[in-house]
Amino acid sequence: MTNTVPEINSPTGATESSATPATITFADFGLDPKIQKAVSEQGYNTPTPIQAQSIPHVLAGSDLMGAAQTGTGKTAAFVLPIIQKILRHASSSASPARHPIRALVLTPTRELAVQVAENAASYSKHTDLRAAVVYGGVDMKEQVATLRGGVEILIATPGRLLDHIGSKVANLSQVEILVLDEADRMLDMGFLPDLQRIIDLIPAQRQTLLFSATFSPEIKKLAQSYLRTPVTVEVARQNAAADTVKQVVHMVSSADKQRAIVKVLEARTRQGLSRQCIIFTNSRLGCARLARSLERDGIKAGAIHGDKSQGERTLTLDAFKSGAIEALVATDVAARGLDIPSMPCVINHELPFNAEDFIHRIGRTGRAGSKGDAIALVDASEKRLLDDIEKLMKRKLDIQPLPEGSSSSAPSRSSSRSDAPAKMSDPFFYKPYEPSAAAQPNANSTNTEEKKVGITPARPAVGALLGGFKKK
Ligand code: AMP
Repeated sequence: MTNTVPEINSPTGATESSATPATITFADFGLDPKIQKAVSEQGYNTPTPIQAQSIPHVLAGSDLMGAAQTGTGKTAAFVLPIIQKILRHASSSASPARHPIRALVLTPTRELAVQVAENAASYSKHTDLRAAVVYGGVDMKEQVATLRGGVEILIATPGRLLDHIGSKVANLSQVEILVLDEADRMLDMGFLPDLQRIIDLIPAQRQTLLFSATFSPEIKKLAQSYLRTPVTVEVARQNAAADTVKQVVHMVSSADKQRAIVKVLEARTRQGLSRQCIIFTNSRLGCARLARSLERDGIKAGAIHGDKSQGERTLTLDAFKSGAIEALVATDVAARGLDIPSMPCVINHELPFNAEDFIHRIGRTGRAGSKGDAIALVDASEKRLLDDIEKLMKRKLDIQPLPEGSSSSAPSRSSSRSDAPAKMSDPFFYKPYEPSAAAQPNANSTNTEEKKVGITPARPAVGALLGGFKKK
């Protein structure tokens, strides 16, 4: 099966966005049969636009800045050509000296690092290349053993990588390709010093790839200093959420927000939709509190935020992916990169202070072409944040009244306030997308990737991936 994607025809240093449609298949990239086999086993028939446009440039050795909507296959867009490029170094030797780090992928969050590593392990499973992940918040011992054994593809968060470099367990002197995933966050002030120290240890003769859904003009400028005559690939309008995400705003006073979540979930139940949702909050304290309050309202909730240990975060995420938890209450620690293919709904309990974070948050739904609902609960004090988001996305969001609920929660004290939920006039006004077959947790899908990382109890715990991915 093939797909229509924009043609790849821009010279190095050019910006590529949409061009003449052409038909591209994975076979057109000339990837090694071992990689192609892994791709077919994932159930991928056709490259996504970011893959179709990026892979040839990466194979050709260009530096690249890739901007694409969230959930559009960015990971494979860099991992597949990386495997192809370093395949010539693959060795079945057990000697660690034969397995130096050739490709380094840096990510801003631990969860994203694990996810990229899962992908790298799957795509390289028929080769002798090794992939591993290192990130902070967990014991170093297992990571040290993995690194000492040798890995060609290392996925890391910056701080922990520097720890391993400091103890001489990781050596970057043979790195040929550097990837900054969620590059805008990697290049922001918090990460810059660590990033600079790491980049200083990588040979100047390297290929650098930057991927993100959002690139502000300042970040673009800064990124240029790390890249040599880069190709810019923009497969879709920047600063936009996937078209498959239906966005709705409910104006709700802050005191009514929790009750609003209960109503939204009740409405989804009535409509036969999944109650599985990620609820974003702005603070760690608020996140923990909301999860506890939802539990009291009979909603199976869990919290994931920066004050939780990595072990707790992993357990909660696994419980969410298995369906044991239906509402994952999270801070922005979960806003980027988390890929749960059948995630049907994202609720913003509060709007983020940074409009770009809104796009990343709602990008947790509507991934890989599946449909999703993004619901924002906005109180009067957040109107300015809403304006910023609408300005960034260059579109007005649909403001709708809350669905009428049969919630047994106590009626709101503030229901007479001007920003209290409006009465529903049409019983069918609240119509989230119907879940597609692909979005059903137990659907008989032929997509093996979906089976691997979907909401299914059979999925191995993320924590089990900790030490690395030795395949043989
Ligand atoms: P990413 O943006 O890399 O997080 O990928 C989002 C989702 O798309 C993941 O579930 C991938 O497994 C899936 N995916 C990536 N490439 C393809 C493809 N060519 N066809 C179908 N699904 C894909």
